[in-house]
Amino acid sequence: MGKSTGFLQYGRAENPHRPVQARIKDFEELYETQSETTRKEQAARCMNCGVPFCQSAIELKGMVTGCPLHNLIPEWNDEIYQGNIAYALNRLLKTNPFPEFTGRVCPALCEKACINGLDGEPVCVHDNEKFIIESAFEQGLMKPRKPAVRSGKRVAVIGAGPSGLALADALNQRGHLVCVLEREEEAGGLLMYGIPNMKLDKRVIQRRVELMKEEGVTFEMNTSVGRDVSFDQLKERYDAIAVCAGAKKPRPVAGFEDDIHGVAYAVDFLSATTRRLQAGAPLPDLRECHVVIVGGGDTGNDCCATAIRLGCTKITQLE
Ligand code: SF4
Repeated sequence: MGKSTGFLQYGRAENPHRPVQARIKDFEELYETQSETTRKEQAARCMNCGVPFCQSAIELKGMVTGCPLHNLIPEWNDEIYQGNIAYALNRLLKTNPFPEFTGRVCPALCEKACINGLDGEPVCVHDNEKFIIESAFEQGLMKPRKPAVRSGKRVAVIGAGPSGLALADALNQRGHLVCVLEREEEAGGLLMYGIPNMKLDKRVIQRRVELMKEEGVTFEMNTSVGRDVSFDQLKERYDAIAVCAGAKKPRPVAGFEDDIHGVAYAVDFLSATTRRLQAGAPLPDLRECHVVIVGGGDTGNDCCATAIRLGCTKITQLE
């Protein structure tokens, strides 16, 4: 605990959003960064609780509160306050393979469990995490970690979404030779094609994939298992196969047929927009459109934010 009175002295200050009128005109990231001084103050709000519920991932009535990764939150909050980014990074990477993703798009169950929130506002754990990993990349601390010894075992990972990437990273660090097979053009799965660019810039994913390649993971893109390569062929080539294929099938709404003009499933709509952005192609044009969004969760809100950026005149969201 860097500063014993930090939680009394400083209020919560989240990373500010870019001004509305600027951010709705583009797909650039939503958040602005804060000064190092502000970040240290935010880290100083952490009380280094005797029982840090933020990192405990306790199940209450079938739901989890606290970080499911058991991130060592009070430890790295202290290191931020002390200005030790390298130490903070070391503690962060103990439990989290990709903090640059979770620091942007995780719903921050840690903050819901933070004891500071009992009588005030929780520590900005989410923003602190992003600060550590982005500072580490900026300062050249994120160097390829190549395993000292290779096991000689070959593993195929089917799917380059979040679970496939995390598994490939873990297996590679244990010395196995990992090849990730992905049917899409780019790795990332829902990170790449489901979450809009303003919440997770696609360069962040590409930066991580390049690092994994330097660490020895190979990627075969545009390769669909069952179409381009059979499961039996994989069994001949690899010692083990992990299926991390995701869940692509949408849940239909009763009464809406798939082919009604103007009706689209959320992920199809979001991924079509991202694909065009990535390719530099013209974006879908929603000017003159009144858009109705069914669902008000994260995905529904991503559709809302995307439709606004595509110029729609009106949105009705049903929840
Ligand atoms: S619960 Fe909140 S105040 Fe306590 S250690 Fe975790 S982040 Fe810090």
